[in-house]
Amino acid sequence: MRFYQGVNAATGELLTGNFPICELDALDELLGRAKGAFEDYQTIESSKKALFLRQIRINLLEIETDLIDRAHLETGLSKPRIKTEFDRTTNQLLLFAGTVERGDWLEISIDTEDNERLPTPKPDLRKWYIPLGPVVVFGASNFPLAYSAIGGDSVSALAAGCSVIVKAHPSHPGTSELVAEMVIKAGKMTGMPDGVFQHVHGQGFELGAGLVEHPLTKAVGFTGSYSGGMALVKLANARPVPIPVFAEMGSTNPVLLLPNSLQDQPEFWANTLVKSLTASAGQFCTNPGIMIGLKSDALDVFVEKFKEALALELDQIMLSSSILQNFEAGKETLAKLEEVDLIYTKTPESNRHVGPSLALVNGLDFIKNPLLHHEIFGPISLLVICDDAAEMLNVINSLEGQLTGTVIGDAIDLERFDVHYKTLITKVGRMIFNGVPTGVEVVGSMHHGGPFPSTSNSYFTAVGTDAIRRFLRPVVYQNCPNDLLPLALQNKNVLGIYRRINGELSKSDVD
Ligand code: NAP
Repeated sequence: MRFYQGVNAATGELLTGNFPICELDALDELLGRAKGAFEDYQTIESSKKALFLRQIRINLLEIETDLIDRAHLETGLSKPRIKTEFDRTTNQLLLFAGTVERGDWLEISIDTEDNERLPTPKPDLRKWYIPLGPVVVFGASNFPLAYSAIGGDSVSALAAGCSVIVKAHPSHPGTSELVAEMVIKAGKMTGMPDGVFQHVHGQGFELGAGLVEHPLTKAVGFTGSYSGGMALVKLANARPVPIPVFAEMGSTNPVLLLPNSLQDQPEFWANTLVKSLTASAGQFCTNPGIMIGLKSDALDVFVEKFKEALALELDQIMLSSSILQNFEAGKETLAKLEEVDLIYTKTPESNRHVGPSLALVNGLDFIKNPLLHHEIFGPISLLVICDDAAEMLNVINSLEGQLTGTVIGDAIDLERFDVHYKTLITKVGRMIFNGVPTGVEVVGSMHHGGPFPSTSNSYFTAVGTDAIRRFLRPVVYQNCPNDLLPLALQNKNVLGIYRRINGELSKSDVD
């Protein structure tokens, strides 16, 4: 058996713990177990599934300190940041436990028969949503807890009634393993089928590709690079039976800086955006990688204040040496372009640290060079300076699909530039007014997804309770005898959940 170890992100030293690499010849057994577990798990009552999710939370709370310490070592993220992520992860488990019990995501719709209808009788139709089957989840490097072993993808798949196989991200294997142990323990404590949650390690693309290609895998959740996400989408589509890959990939999260607001508060917005850009060394999929403003004195003041604020930021450790290398390479490529002015870059205290940067480009050059539209993962923002409102609109029109868009503008700005921000809305999954794109609420109204290439499917969210929809599909029962229907679809509403009956939402029985 082959093993590997975690690495201290700050020092590069190997950490304790040997993690066994899952070989390709183990996949049949792994997926077979996941399929068997799925068949039992999908029929388990909602209240028991909710108990399982709540028990995972209790188990995680018991190892909170050890978990935060390990995640800090493996990722270089600060302990307060990891604590926030820990709380998000445990609250997310409670949120999904409640969602499972409520059952509104089953979207039950019943249209009763009408035998008198002419010229043909109307059949009895009863629709609901069923889980897809075993789901493969790729842990995300930048969310060691909230998007890894029992992060948003895993918890929403389990809530939907799917079994889950997690491929740990190789940059935090110890964190992932600790969490996985707690999930498996919770499964045993609450009587869940063996194999409802499995966790494997691997380095290199072989294992991930094998998991996606395996015929028993029914869906995939992924957060990471555009190249990684697209490679998995291609593999999934090339299977004899294609499956959905819900990939959250890159986004530059454009921020429109409108003139009145900028004139009023250049320093406030510079400081606010620098905090958003540099949080967790810029390693958020929502960090403001592109800003768009109009050439003006106010914008010049904003740039000066932005540089001053960047200079005050402390150097940070990135998640892994390869992510740091990718960042430095991306910055270097940008700096070499004639049309780009890397106006500020903070030299870090060591080559293991990263300092934040600001680059400038004019609107026309930005539109012409597709390279400038790509995410550089880390603390750098590109300010696109436009000659006038018409050029600003052309810049917005040239943008690719994004997770978020932001507009900084007062009432006068929003009236004058309404076509601008409304055009930006057509490119994004979430539009923020006078705020920052980082900070994603985990609630029912969140949509963390956006048009391609920010995600592989803009209909679905990776954050919030609607994330469950990715792992479900609708099925309709036509003229099925009442006692053969699933309980939730039978005439008597014993589960007491909301159902749409002949167009009306109610908790009543079917007459
Ligand atoms: P990544 O390279 O996309 O890897 C994420 C996961 O997918 C890893 O488990 C990786 O496996 C697997 N994978 C990647 N390409 C694959 C392929 N072709 N076939 C099979 N499996 C594949 O992301 P990362 O390691 O987190 O960071 C690398 C870069 O991704 C960053 O520098 C950044 O540019 C970007 N990134 C973006 C976001 C975002 O939110 N926008 C988040 C994280 C990273 P192995 O590592 O085991 O090989």
